[in-house]
Amino acid sequence: MNKIIKIVLISTTLFILFFIISLIMLVQGENNFLSRNISSIIKYLSIDNYELPKRNIDILEYELELDIFPNEGIIKENAKIKLVANDKSQKTIELDLYDNFKINFVKIEKTEISYNYSDNKIEIDRSNILTDTLNLEIDFEGEPQNLGFGSFWMEEKNNKKFVATLNEPIYASTWFPCNDTPADKALLTISITNDSNIVSLSNGKLKKTFSGGNRRTYIWNSNYPISTYLISIYSGEYKKFSQKYFSTTDTMDIDYYVTDVNLENAKKDFAKHPEYLKVLSELFGEYPFIKDKYGVAEILWQKGAMESQTITGIGSNFISGMNFYESMLIHELAHHWWGNSVTPKTWKDIWLNEGFATYSEALYYEKINGFDALKSTMSSFKSRISSESEQTLYNPGLNLFSSVVYNKGAWVLHMLRKEIGDSLFFSGIKSYYNKFKYGNSNTQDLIQIFETVSNRNLDKFFNQWIFEGTGILELEIKLSEKVISKNEIELKIDIKQIQTGYENYHFPLDIELEDSSGNIINISSYIKGNTTLKYKLKNRLKNAYFDKNNWLLAFIETETYR
Ligand SMILES: [Zn+2]
Repeated sequence: MNKIIKIVLISTTLFILFFIISLIMLVQGENNFLSRNISSIIKYLSIDNYELPKRNIDILEYELELDIFPNEGIIKENAKIKLVANDKSQKTIELDLYDNFKINFVKIEKTEISYNYSDNKIEIDRSNILTDTLNLEIDFEGEPQNLGFGSFWMEEKNNKKFVATLNEPIYASTWFPCNDTPADKALLTISITNDSNIVSLSNGKLKKTFSGGNRRTYIWNSNYPISTYLISIYSGEYKKFSQKYFSTTDTMDIDYYVTDVNLENAKKDFAKHPEYLKVLSELFGEYPFIKDKYGVAEILWQKGAMESQTITGIGSNFISGMNFYESMLIHELAHHWWGNSVTPKTWKDIWLNEGFATYSEALYYEKINGFDALKSTMSSFKSRISSESEQTLYNPGLNLFSSVVYNKGAWVLHMLRKEIGDSLFFSGIKSYYNKFKYGNSNTQDLIQIFETVSNRNLDKFFNQWIFEGTGILELEIKLSEKVISKNEIELKIDIKQIQTGYENYHFPLDIELEDSSGNIINISSYIKGNTTLKYKLKNRLKNAYFDKNNWLLAFIETETYR
């Protein structure tokens, strides 16, 4: 997902926190609420913190048939689900499904069976059916709830109706029954029927379309496994245009779907996708969904963009005709490697999605425009991270889409690159991708790959930047010179860590010293704790640069004493 939405989420979170705090004040009449531990308050009030279902099942395939009636605001849906349930002692199969629908019937192996439908779950009796693989069928209808960022919404613009979905993180079951965890990937076929003037889009490849009466059906099929949060439908009066992407072995369609008013602007903005695909494929490995497609669809959600698998949705107001939001397009495409192909096991690992997609923007600009573009992109990411943030990168709780997750996530990868060097970093990225593509990984899996490729223990690096440290590194550096003799000056550099979010970072620091005759000395020093460095110079110091190439997530203040 793109970061524009973080503002909304932060304000929502702040509002929730404010509400909780106010509530506690009311209930307990306490004035010292600010000293309370916020995370324990959240736990206490059982606010949804994205706990995932732990079920002993594995969904193999979803086959969803949706009839959409935008005028009535309802859907009629038939969901066929093939799954493996090995544990025979388990008498019921539980799936997520918001409990506002009218269920017409539930079947296993074409036989109607009983079920319990409450608490946004459907529990299906399988006590008489003891095969490992089960074929369920759930037929239902009603008005889907629109939760989270807009899990299912029907909206009208210029007398034209649009339907779109955005499930991330845990709202897929507002419109289809599922095992709603990113770790349970499955194959997917979606059939969408709407009024005959409407184009209906989804993940994967278009298998066929057909009309009946004043209705039109589109059937989409994914050749690759997909997580529930990436399953999406967009249905509206779209205009289509296309490009081709030529890989070394395949030719793939890039399809764009926009409203007629944005057609010309979109043609300008989207034109460079073949180049984005080429550059990202060179960096990480071939585009993962090459037998399906890549697509971009305009949506009426105006908070950003969403990387729905093979069909990114982008808000109308990010189509400018002047390429203002190019980094957003690169970001969503990059998610197809990072998030869609390699998918986090839990939402605690969300930085693996957003940090990688954000760093991909910087890597793209480095490839196209050179090292200075990398430096300036990393600077802009740094400026978005508050040194006072109290959030660790791992397990951000409710703040799944905060600035820390995106920008510090990107920075951790950037610093890892400095820590182990370009060649090990990029080969590590490729082995990580190859090992986990079309599957799931977590932060531990990433650490293990990089410890293997670098043959180093990286505990300290990951502990300080991901698991324990909050905010960023802050350095106070004092330089002082002492004249020893005519051609000998002693330079003393006192480096002090003054941040509050972590006690003692270890990090490589590049120092460039320039003396009054223009001689330049480059030093790379590995700093552990507060440190004093001493150097002998032949002339007085003219300039000193610390981390000139922007490899360190730090605010650095320097003072010189003469
Ligand atoms: Zn994103």
